[in-house]
Amino acid sequence: MNPSTPYRCAVIGNPIAHSLSPDIHHAFAQALDLPVQYERILCTADDFDNRVAEFFAQGGRGLNITVPFKERAFTLSQKHCQPRAQLAGAVNTLWVADQQLHGDNTDGEGLVVDLQRLGKELKGQRVLLIGAGGAARGVALPLLAAGAQSLKIINRSPERAHQLLQQLEQQLTQQPLGSQPSLASGGLQDTAGQWDVVINATSASLDNDRPEHGTISYASQALAYDMVYGAKPTAFMQTAQQQGAAQCVDGLGMLVEQAASSFAIWFGQRPPTTAIRAQLRQQLFSSS
Ligand code: NDP
Repeated sequence: MNPSTPYRCAVIGNPIAHSLSPDIHHAFAQALDLPVQYERILCTADDFDNRVAEFFAQGGRGLNITVPFKERAFTLSQKHCQPRAQLAGAVNTLWVADQQLHGDNTDGEGLVVDLQRLGKELKGQRVLLIGAGGAARGVALPLLAAGAQSLKIINRSPERAHQLLQQLEQQLTQQPLGSQPSLASGGLQDTAGQWDVVINATSASLDNDRPEHGTISYASQALAYDMVYGAKPTAFMQTAQQQGAAQCVDGLGMLVEQAASSFAIWFGQRPPTTAIRAQLRQQLFSSS
């Protein structure tokens, strides 16, 4: 490649102006000394398929997908997408290989890597996952693949939690893991048990709200993780602290790590994440 021609990458969604992805990916590229130009693409539902095709026809290297197009991206890349994206029914990373569009969902890997950074290896851990929307669907299989001993999915609409559990069981029948984790699902009050890791994968925190879950019994050294991030601890994190969680963390680290996983798919190298995470945390504090 001519060093003056940067690799083109982008994030596509609607709205898109708020996306931190260009900052994150430019920091990765700088750290690895790769010429990357990463843009935001605003598009409408009618235009999505054409914009994706056009991006890759013009030599685009990698595309991130955000709200509301992750399911559309899954449909486009379904023939060549990873099992974790199949379960999620959603794709946040697209690329072309052998002239075919490929898709993956890096949310789960991003979460697992961030949990490891926080000292939480999932092997043998009891995990309570709150939520059954796109984010929960994206992380369920990776949490089990990372060794969780048990996983309970609870949701405001319990039937969605049951449905996700059924799909997870089906996937595990087709592609079994080394161990057999114990799986359960229920409504928000079904919190019985003791938990090492509790993950809020609902969007309640975006409205400064929290899921009205039953009392949670946190094991010693337990970690509570909210996928939403902000300048202050979320209402979920505050409740978790009151109910005994030893560590309460927001999802900024997951945001950066899922981006690092996309970058690694496109460029074959996982970039360092510490500096950009610290920079974004600082930006969040200063903008509050
Ligand atoms: P969806 O819209 O697909 O799902 C929303 C989920 O939240 C559903 O389970 C819904 O329950 C639940 N919910 C919403 N409001 C409430 C409430 N007040 N009380 C209880 N449950 C509630 O969203 P996503 O799954 O795509 O995203 C969830 C969150 O995760 C978002 O806030 C998103 O920003 C964040 N996220 C963060 C990432 C990161 O990198 N840090 C990556 C991906 C997502 P019901 O089914 O009953 O409606």
